Amino acid sequence: MLEVTGLNHRYGSGEATHIAVRDLSFSVAAGELACIVGPSGCGKSTLLRCIAGLIPPSAGSVQLHGDPVNGVPEDLAVVFQDYSRSLFPWLSVARNVEFPLRWRRISKQERAQRAQEALDAVGLSEVGKKFPWQLSGGMQQRVSIARALASRPALLLMDEPFASVDAQTRFELEDLLRRVQREQNSTILLVTHDIDESVYLGDRVLVLSSSPATIVADLPVDLPAERHQIATRESARFVALRGEVARLLQSTPTSPQSDVDTDGPAERADSAKETAH
Ligand code: ADP
Repeated sequence: MLEVTGLNHRYGSGEATHIAVRDLSFSVAAGELACIVGPSGCGKSTLLRCIAGLIPPSAGSVQLHGDPVNGVPEDLAVVFQDYSRSLFPWLSVARNVEFPLRWRRISKQERAQRAQEALDAVGLSEVGKKFPWQLSGGMQQRVSIARALASRPALLLMDEPFASVDAQTRFELEDLLRRVQREQNSTILLVTHDIDESVYLGDRVLVLSSSPATIVADLPVDLPAERHQIATRESARFVALRGEVARLLQSTPTSPQSDVDTDGPAERADSAKETAH
């Protein structure tokens, strides 16, 4: 479904050049939920923005079902961390969910039906007429997910989608995402800095180095498909996998960076420890 080949991205030029992504290649198969985990600032959002066609990479290519991505593909949806800025406060929840469908050749009636189905899928059947600001943060993020699902994307990109909600809501949203992904056989690429979340959610975890981002491991998550927030997280296999990811993150060498990467080994170890929590 997705093929990323030799992707590089640098910001600025000359002495101010910052290499955010370096020579990164991977693919995601249809129906897979792949998580990308890496320390804050390593280049995860830059990578997602390149995949989404929001910024052109400095080098390398992105292909979505064989077609090169030059600009945002029609059958791609993105869910960002900041739900409060991605929903229109003056539109009802249902209208927000329908919004991206306005530019498709879809009748008004079908738009409304798809919006309702997407809201049903995320457990918000009853709130279509409300406004986003009348809902809790977790519900608003569900609306963002519903909006992404309503367009029936070939690929759903998620950039730290649960980082702004409380821990309990985060668990609920993680389970919701896995359920919806399996029901709809969606292809999802989700980035997070949370090791436990990457293992709990993923069929696969791609571990990124610190800046500039490059892939240091591609781990299949061999946990049962049916996951449970307490039992799965207590299982020996989950604990072993999260340990493996944490070790990989702590041991990633920092590639030479032309400018800002002045962290010494101690600071890097600290930031990897933070990530591990
Ligand atoms: P992450 O999502 O992993 O936190 P980002 O992709 O946001 O990381 O950023 C990676 C690096 O690129 C950071 O050092 C950040 O400061 C830098 N960066 C991000 N966006 C820009 C930009 N528009 N201009 C210059 N540097 C940027």
